[in-house]
Amino acid sequence: MAVQNPTRDIPDWRIRTCQPCGGEREHEVTVRFRTDATREAIQPQNEVFARQPYRVLECLYCGASRSERVV
Ligand SMILES: [Zn+2]
Repeated sequence: MAVQNPTRDIPDWRIRTCQPCGGEREHEVTVRFRTDATREAIQPQNEVFARQPYRVLECLYCGASRSERVV
C-alpha cells in the first residue's frame, strides 16, 4: 500500500519494511564497521578483512532498530 506524502520527499533507500510497524517506514540508515578483535587467528595484515560493514536501520516511527550486512 503506497501512501502519498506530498509534504516530504523521502529517498527510496530510506524506505524499508519495519516488522513492528507492519509496513514500509522511513528509516535512519547508518553504515558502520564491526570489528572482531577477539579472533586471534586474524593477522594484522588481514585486519581489513575482519572489518565487516553493516547497516543500522532505525525506524523513525516506532524506534525499532536492526542491522543488515553490506555485501
Ligand atoms: Zn517501525
